[in-house]
Amino acid sequence: MNNSSAVLILDKVSKSYGNGLAVNEVSLSIRENEFFALLGPSGCGKTTLLRMLAGFETPSAGCIYLDGNDISPLPANKRPLNLMFQSYALFPNMTVRKNIAYGLEMERLPEAEIRRRVDDVLSTAQLGELAERKPDQLSGGQRQRVALARALVKRPRVLLLDEPLGALDKKLREKMQLELKRLQHESGITFIIVTHDQEEALVMSDRMAVLDGGKVCQCGSPTELYENPNSRFVANFIGVSNLLEGVRSGPNSVRVSGQELRVETDAPLITAQPVAVVVRPERLQVLTEQGSDCDNQVTGTIVEVAYHGLDTNLHVETALSDKPLIVRVPSSQFEFAHFAIDTTIRLGWQARHARVLTR
Ligand code: ATP
Repeated sequence: MNNSSAVLILDKVSKSYGNGLAVNEVSLSIRENEFFALLGPSGCGKTTLLRMLAGFETPSAGCIYLDGNDISPLPANKRPLNLMFQSYALFPNMTVRKNIAYGLEMERLPEAEIRRRVDDVLSTAQLGELAERKPDQLSGGQRQRVALARALVKRPRVLLLDEPLGALDKKLREKMQLELKRLQHESGITFIIVTHDQEEALVMSDRMAVLDGGKVCQCGSPTELYENPNSRFVANFIGVSNLLEGVRSGPNSVRVSGQELRVETDAPLITAQPVAVVVRPERLQVLTEQGSDCDNQVTGTIVEVAYHGLDTNLHVETALSDKPLIVRVPSSQFEFAHFAIDTTIRLGWQARHARVLTR
């Protein structure tokens, strides 16, 4: 692990409640100015991990270092980390400006400095025109921005966000994802966000850690995790995957349902080892001509056509797996190809677009 620009280091951090381990030996290094996402299904330990960083929970084992110093002895209010909760309670009787200034007033900073910092943040969060309004005169997205501004104005070393967009509808969520990314970039503050929404993590984060059962399954950039998942769990959790279960039959081949599939892999050859070949829906091609140069080919029957606007997902039953393969086709192709249910089509993909998973 390269810790040269690490702000926060978690070293084998665990948390148990009674006999259960909510967080199990998590080691992570989070960098300066990074947008980092903790992602995983419900109950995987994301919130517990975030609460330990904030100082609301004490680790049962392991250490947390901020700028090289062990922060375990520091109570929550003495840590230069700010946690923004899912339900961001604003003071209803205070204006936006007052809500934002409140934390600095509690610190008894000089009035001129408070004014300057609040003005700065109002402008970054594009709230200038709303400064004199009260929370009930704002939309959900605007209230969200005030909550963020209130956290940012304190200039924490790290801002912790627990499902910050959870309460917003889909359209606003997508807008706020980009907004959050911009605010993080402009403020230069390290953000750690907890989310169970993989699309959100892919869009916003520089790097992310996927957790399951209290353990980190994989940590890396969105592209690394999407293109090179290290396990069936990550492949399934991030994006849509076609998983083909088979056995390793050679250095560059896997036998799936009696068919030899060509793969490119660094995984050591253990003959007959059960493995899964994963191919993303956009890597599958519908072959229209005979003699295509695709390394792997299979015939199947369309059992479902799911239109998504820009793309259409074809669900194609083949001999390779019990579940239909999902093929993403640009909807524009429908002008010249006919993909109706019960049509037989031929699919193909290149060996380099398939990953071999041993876990
Ligand atoms: P969600 O997305 O549903 O909020 P999460 O990934 O944030 O889930 P946590 O809230 O961290 O998960 O919980 C991890 C595990 O620890 C769960 O099994 C949960 O039941 C357990 N847990 C959390 N807090 C406590 C507690 N105070 N006492 C006992 N068990 C707890």
